[in-house]
Amino acid sequence: MDERTLCHECGAEMVLDTRPQEISYKGLCTTIMQRGWYCTNCSEVLLNWDEVEGSFEAFARMKAQADNLLLPKEITRIRKKLKLSQRKASAILGGGPHAFQRYESGRDWITRSMANLLRLLDNDPNRLNELLPRSEK
Ligand SMILES: [Zn+2]
Repeated sequence: MDERTLCHECGAEMVLDTRPQEISYKGLCTTIMQRGWYCTNCSEVLLNWDEVEGSFEAFARMKAQADNLLLPKEITRIRKKLKLSQRKASAILGGGPHAFQRYESGRDWITRSMANLLRLLDNDPNRLNELLPRSEK
C-alpha cells in the first residue's frame, strides 16, 4: 500500500497507525495494539495479514483459557515430555493420524477431552504405559 491509501467505503484518506483494539470471548476481554490503515473519516480499518497475527494469538489464548483447552505450544511441550512423535501421539492417544500435526500447527483446535488427557499425562507421564498397545509394553 502506498502512502496515500483511500478508503473504499467513503473515499477519505487512510492513515497507518497503531490503535488499541478490544477482543472478547465468553466474558474474557483483552486489549491489543493493532497496526493497520485507519480511515480518517469513517470506521473502516484495513489490516495486513501479518498484522492480524497478534489478534489471532490474543484470541487463541482467551479461547484456550475460557474453554479449558491447550495452546499449540503447550501441546508440543507435553508430547515431547512423553517422548512421542506427532504420529505416535496420534496413534496412541487418538484423534486421527494427523491430529497432533494439526493441533500443534494451530490448524485445528484440540478437543476438550484430548486436552484433559494430556493434562493428566503431563502430571503423571508414567501412566502413558497404560495406554500403549500390548505389543509395545
Ligand atoms: Zn472511510
